[in-house]
Amino acid sequence: MPEFGYTDLLPLGEDATTYRSLGRGGVTTRQSFGREFLDIDPGVLTQLTARAIADISHLLRPTHLAQLRRVIDDRQASPNDRFVALDLLRNACIAAGRVLPMCQDTGTAIVMGKRGQHVLTDGRDAEHISRGVYDAYTELNLRYSQLAPLTMFTERNTGTNLPAQIEIYADSGNAYKFLFMAKGGGSANKSFLYQETKAVLGPQRLLTFLEEKIRSLGTAACPPYHLAIVIGGTSAEYALKTAKYASAHYLDTLPVTGSAAGHGFRDLELEQQVLELTGRLGIGAQFGGKYFCHDVRVVRLPRHGASCPVAIAVSCSADRQALAKITPDGVFLEQLETDPARYLPDTMHDDLGDSAGVVPIDLNRPMGEICAELSRYPVKTRLALSGPLVVARDIAHAKIAERLDAGEPMPAYLRDHAVYYAGPAIDRRRRGQAGARLHHRGVGSRIPRARHGGGVEDRGPRLPRVRRGRRQRQRFLR
Ligand code: SF4
Repeated sequence: MPEFGYTDLLPLGEDATTYRSLGRGGVTTRQSFGREFLDIDPGVLTQLTARAIADISHLLRPTHLAQLRRVIDDRQASPNDRFVALDLLRNACIAAGRVLPMCQDTGTAIVMGKRGQHVLTDGRDAEHISRGVYDAYTELNLRYSQLAPLTMFTERNTGTNLPAQIEIYADSGNAYKFLFMAKGGGSANKSFLYQETKAVLGPQRLLTFLEEKIRSLGTAACPPYHLAIVIGGTSAEYALKTAKYASAHYLDTLPVTGSAAGHGFRDLELEQQVLELTGRLGIGAQFGGKYFCHDVRVVRLPRHGASCPVAIAVSCSADRQALAKITPDGVFLEQLETDPARYLPDTMHDDLGDSAGVVPIDLNRPMGEICAELSRYPVKTRLALSGPLVVARDIAHAKIAERLDAGEPMPAYLRDHAVYYAGPAIDRRRRGQAGARLHHRGVGSRIPRARHGGGVEDRGPRLPRVRRGRRQRQRFLR
């Protein structure tokens, strides 16, 4: 019989993150029982959370920005890849101005904490962290996405983006460590669980399986992705959670080999194989090309002999996460890039030769003319739109479906104009200004009949819908 031995399921290595100091206020140390305790004021948790949400809503990691620049510099990247990467970099520069966020979907706030046994708080940590989420979302130009269920079929936006998902774990030591994330709906919707068996655990079978599943991710979550795959897991939910953390690069310091103890590890070789596979899919950064993914993480976990969960998750182009820690030295937040412009190339779209074949469409013309012109172009044609668009998303669709169900006619503005499927983040100081990250992903939107079953599109003329590239085999706009 083996000797008893303990291992963390996910044993992390040294933290090499670059942090910036937020000061020492509200953090004191106390000696008691011969030990040093870290005493944290409630306001510290609130302020740290608010600062973290603000940072990740506007700033990206330098590594992510460097990956975007690499797409532009890669001669094998398609013009579409480079177009998207350049647009994303320009978008990052706008967001870094800290007025408008990097994406109109400002996400569900997710906070994971590991609290050392010598850390003292008043015990209401989740409440204080929630207060920080509240402060950030209500004071900044961040959209409220959380819907409270009033009954099974009626919901109301909480108007604060609360509740947040907060999970706090016990740890050793006298530090309080955090991972802050803001997860958009499109990105969260691309977390998948597959209950497989040992049959999938063969080198070729696994790659074949993964190719099929990765292909099915599509582009709805705004690639290039940080793709995470977890093979195994002590439970389905643990596999999924591990995939989410891996997509945020939180598990990058895992061991790279397994052991009889059963801990998780990264499979670097498979990561490279899957990354190459994603480059061959041809999907690219939304409209065809090589850069479907920036990088891939593959984590192998222990499993029950009768089950083999496989979890897949992505972090999207709004790659929003930051680490933080509170230690006897003070409060620290991961240093994100405040000057993304330094990743911009000296060239822009025209210089890159990426504008060839772009068709200008004047949306001021009668709808019949627009439709006739669009019908001349094949799938994947890139369009440059000018003129009015109706901005509407799921809730607008549900409301219109309600009106149609009540016998009211389709509003004229939906007959006369294309619909841009997006929910703008509003600058609350200058109402009506759309959020920064509407322009490039907007090439991909629609009023989704399937999501609500409202059949809105069945009850009006076939109108242009601005959609995401390659979500389905359709023209961008028709
Ligand atoms: S970048 Fe795309 S997938 Fe990510 S949060 Fe924004 S809309 Fe959602």
